[in-house]
Formats: sequence, structure tokens, C-alpha cells
Amino acid sequence: MTISALIRSNIGLYSAIFFFTLLAIEIIAIKRFHARGRIPAKDATLGVLTGVLSDPVNGLSAFITLGILAMVQPFQIITLPVTLATFVVCFVLDDLRFYCHHRVAHRCRWVWAMHSVHHSSQEYNLAVALRQGWTKHFTGTMLFKIPLVLIGFDPVMVTFCGVLNASIQFMLHTETIDRMPRWVEAIFNTPSHHRVHHASNPRYLDANYAGTLIIWDRLFGSFVPEDRSHPPVYGLVKNLNTFNLFTVLTHEYIGIARDVVQRGLSPVQRLFYIFAPPGWSHDGSRQTTADIKAAAGLASDSVVLAE
Ligand SMILES: [Zn+2]
Ligand SMILES: [Zn+2]
Repeated sequence: MTISALIRSNIGLYSAIFFFTLLAIEIIAIKRFHARGRIPAKDATLGVLTGVLSDPVNGLSAFITLGILAMVQPFQIITLPVTLATFVVCFVLDDLRFYCHHRVAHRCRWVWAMHSVHHSSQEYNLAVALRQGWTKHFTGTMLFKIPLVLIGFDPVMVTFCGVLNASIQFMLHTETIDRMPRWVEAIFNTPSHHRVHHASNPRYLDANYAGTLIIWDRLFGSFVPEDRSHPPVYGLVKNLNTFNLFTVLTHEYIGIARDVVQRGLSPVQRLFYIFAPPGWSHDGSRQTTADIKAAAGLASDSVVLAE
């Protein structure tokens, strides 16, 4: 399969059918069968709108990433065949690539400006999964896919693994599922693990960056289990309190622009306002997530054990 064949294929249409079928099931489960969860209409509408409208924008800008991957393909060390075995290895390595991208997305304000859209809802349901930033192909972190192509994987297979990973992650955004079997919770990212990721409680900040496999968080010290005595409070540290799509998509970029043009800053300070962790300020007047955790008596980037 060539890159152009992937673009021509109906992958977007199949994804949309899959997403909306599951969303309908979740709404019925909550409204008719009193499953755990909430789907307020305004919030869900904004999520769906953000997701549906992001499709053509992300689709067009995906040419940037696909073009770069096609350009590096001639420099592959070896060329691996497209088989079930190489697909599985590619998926696992791409999942590690996603973990790295996601961790950077929370620790670098330039990438956070794109990713904060996904965290801007104070709800947690399948519609929230559709709240995605429109600028992911401009953040630079899509370049993390280059090593996968250079070590021999087909660019289309690498791209497909990313799409599949995103589809699996969609299903995590629900409160209707409490806990999965113990072995599943040990290996895979689950609704419980991802609820922690969407929470703004100090103990849950900067945790569980996983895509499909939670093993990366366990390996790299960013895993925090959901604690029943501390229910997740969803949303941003400072919530936007708006259903304005333009504000949700642009608020952090506007914040960066305002900060960068302040008078009296050094060039390095201006760069820090773009690339340092969210919440950094030249005069210490704001709090990063590390500051918030420290103020709550929690060590940054450390495991918080369930009580
Ligand atoms: Zn995130
Ligand atoms: Zn999410």
C-alpha cells in the first residue's frame, strides 16, 4: 500500500462510524441503564464539533508528516517487509513513540498549546475523546516517527499504527467501565488509568501518558493508579469555562503570544514562554505542575501509591 493509497482510502469514514456507534452506546448506557458517567449536551456537542471539524484540517496537514516520512524512506538502514510480525513490533515501538510525544506535549508549552484542547473539558466521556487540537502536525513531535522509518518500517504502516492507537485510546474515555481485569490493568492503558491522566487533582498531574500500553509509564516512573478515595476532578488546572470553539482551540497560543511580547524580557525569557513547561513565568508569579505538586507535598514525576 502506498501513501497515496492510504490517503485515498476511507479510513476516516470507518473511524467516524466506529466513534459515533460507541458514543451512541455510551449515551444509551448512561441515560437508559444508569451506567456511571455524564454527557452534558453542550459539552458533548463541542467535543463532537471539534473532532468532526478537525478531520479535514488534520487530514490536509497530515501531508506534512507523510511527506517527511516519505522523504526519509530512501535512507532506511534496512527495509522490513509488511507482515503481521513486523506490524506488531511497529505498533509497540510506535506506542513508545506516542508516550514520548505525549510526555513532551505536557511538559513543553508549544506542544501543550495543541494538546490542552483535549484536556479542556471538565467532563469525561467518549465525546471528550473527540476534543482534539487541530495543529498536531505543526508541533514538531510528529518527527518522532522518523526513527521508526529509518530502522526499516514502512511509512504507511507507521502511520496506520498511529491511527489505530488513537482509535484504541478513544475507547478509554468513559466512566461506564470501572476497572478491567487485573492483568489488563497491569499491561494496558485502561479507562481507569486514563481518568487519572485527565484529572487536575495535584496527585494525578503529569501521570499516565500511555497510549495503548501502560508499561511505558510503569517503566519511566510516571504511573499513578486511580485511587477511589480521591475521585478525579477533570479539566485544566485553570479551566476555560467556555463552550466557544475558537477560544478552546486558540487560548494557549494567545497566551503564549501575550507573554512573548511583554516588555523588558530577555530573548531567553521569551523563548522560555514558548518552550518551557506550562505555568513557567519569568517572575515566578505562576505555578507549573511541579510547583503545584510540591505545594501539595507531592514529589514531581514520582509514583503516588494508592492508600
Ligand atoms: Zn494528555
Ligand atoms: Zn484523553
